[in-house]
Parts: sequence; structure tokens; C-alpha cells
Amino acid sequence: MAQATLTVNLGAICDNWRALAARSQSETGAVVKANAYGLGVEQVSQSLAHAGARQFFVAVADEGAALRRALGRGPEIYVFSGHMNGDTATIRDHQLTPLINSIDQMLRHVEALPGQPFGLQLDTGMNRLGMEPSEWSALRDIALAQAPRLVMSHLACADEAHHPMNNHQLQAFREMTEGIEAPRSLAATGGILLGAGYHFDMTRPGIGLYGGLPFAEAKPVIQLHIPVIQTRALEPGETVGYGNTFVAQRPMRIATISAGYADGLLRAMGPRAQLVSGGQYCPVAGRVSMDLIGVDITDLAHEPETLELIGPHQGVDLLADWAGTIGYEVLTSLGARYNRVYLAS
Ligand SMILES: *Cc1c(COP(=O)(O)O)cnc(C)c1O
Repeated sequence: MAQATLTVNLGAICDNWRALAARSQSETGAVVKANAYGLGVEQVSQSLAHAGARQFFVAVADEGAALRRALGRGPEIYVFSGHMNGDTATIRDHQLTPLINSIDQMLRHVEALPGQPFGLQLDTGMNRLGMEPSEWSALRDIALAQAPRLVMSHLACADEAHHPMNNHQLQAFREMTEGIEAPRSLAATGGILLGAGYHFDMTRPGIGLYGGLPFAEAKPVIQLHIPVIQTRALEPGETVGYGNTFVAQRPMRIATISAGYADGLLRAMGPRAQLVSGGQYCPVAGRVSMDLIGVDITDLAHEPETLELIGPHQGVDLLADWAGTIGYEVLTSLGARYNRVYLAS
């Protein structure tokens, strides 16, 4: 079989959730947007629910519908994009809780679904989603009178512990929510690590559950093993792959492995990337193609059947470094062609 195997350790995800929960006194939710950061929303959310998570977050209403089918009734499902035009039936039929981002959304929600739960999203400086202070002062009393389930905002720089933006947003959030009774939430993974002052009533970790930075102590969650389709010997001067970018400087053995950028293995990783076999590192040789990658296995004493790209030796953040991106993008780029194996929690 030429299909690569992506192993997702659901137990490690639950352990990471518990470890983040243990860092705060507040309730710990779980962000499972984008198919649980590419790892499989059904399996991930069911495991987290089993571990005790009761509050889930997705980006758009359709994701909420899929999540409700996975979780059944009971857990709360918040939608960051709020109540968009066309979302009403989805929100109603799947009992979703939109996080209202504007006066327009608030009007839409109370007109279309009076009495249905909602939360409120405030902009404390990121200028991405949520009500700005002026809009908020106009709506505040009316909105709070309808008992929002949650009042939240999002930090722009929480992965940098000493960034002045963190305290700036914390003060803005405090001012905008002073004296309210509704539960409050400010911290995602980075915010949890900033300390108790940022935790309020609920935290919303995403990346930390999936083993990514800034939660450096996270347990690794995924492994990716890619089958070797062919190996060949090269004479000095022979080349590998598109564009002849790799030229053998010595007699070499090259393995061609069965995955590429169509599987989310970012082409930009290029020659910085390496794979692992039996604890030994094997550098990528030449460009990453759509479905194939050449790997220098000259120094291996054995003929590998598969090579490991992600695992205990190298995690998603190292791959991200090679490609000049972040672990979030490596995870959410993982493609649809993998044979996905779930290790039960
Ligand atoms: C994605 C997201 C989160 C989770 O962030 P992580 O950095 O992955 O923990 C939390 N809140 C909001 C509003 C988000 O968009």
C-alpha cells in the first residue's frame, strides 16, 4: 500500500486538555474548528467529551452542525463567526450558540431566533472579530439583559509572553466587561500560559490540545509514516527531482516516498526537511513534488519500508520552521489521502 499513515493519538489530546485545564481554575473548553485542526472533528470531539469537555468552539455554523451530530445533545457549541445571514436554520436545528459580533448580528439573532442562546464577542484590539467599544456601549445593556452565555474576546499576541499587547487587551477586556454577570473568556492556549489574570471563567485552548506551540509541554499527538515506493543508486553528478536542484556529490541511495504537497507536506519545507528511520535522520533530496519526495538514505544500513516525517523525533513545529510557517498551518494542511489511524484515549 502506497498510502501514508497518519496516526492520531486521542489519548494524548485528552492528556493535553487535562494539562491545560489543570493550569486554571476556570472551565476549560475545546476549540475544534477546521476539523479539529485537521485531525478529525468527530473522533477528537467525542474523546474530549468523554474526558469531560462540555464547551466546544467552531469557526462557522456548518462546522457546528457536524459537531452536533458527533456529540449529540448536551455539550454547548459556540460559533465564532456568530449569526450570519443564512445561518438561522443551522443554528436552530443544531442548537448552536453564535458568538454575536455586531449590532447587525444581534438584531438578526433576536428577530430570527428570539430566546435562543447566544454569546458576545468583543474586539479588544485585534481588529478581527467582535464589537468595538463604541458599538458595545450602544448595545451593552440590551444584550446583557438577555443573559448571554459568554462574553469573550481574543488575544493577538499571546504566544509572546512579554508582548505589551497582552496587558493592553487584558485592561480593555476588563473595562468593557466590568460588573457584568455573564461568564467571561479571553484566553486561548497562549492566554492560558500567561497566567491566572487572563483566565476569567472559561478558557478556549486549540493548538495546545493538538501538541503545538506555544504549549511547549504538550504531549506529541500525531505520527506520519510514509511508504518507500522505490530506492535507487545514484552516481556522483546525477540529479533528483524537478529542476535538478539536488546533485549527488558522492555515490548515494535515494528513496522515493509516497506523499507530497498535495498531502499538505508544504513544498516550502524543501531541502531543510529530513525524515527518520530507526532513530537516524535522512535529509530530503530535491524538491517536494505533488505526490512524491526524494530522500537521501545513503547512510542507513537497512532498506526502510517507511520513513517517519512526524513523530517523537520531530514534531509539527519543526516542520513549520522548515517551511517558514507555524504548527497550526502544518496541522490544518494535512491532506485527505492519508490512512488515518486513531489511538483510543
Ligand atoms: C482559534 C481560536 C482559539 C484557539 O486558539 P489556539 O491558539 O489554537 O489555542 C480560541 N479563540 C478564538 C477566537 C480562535 O479563533
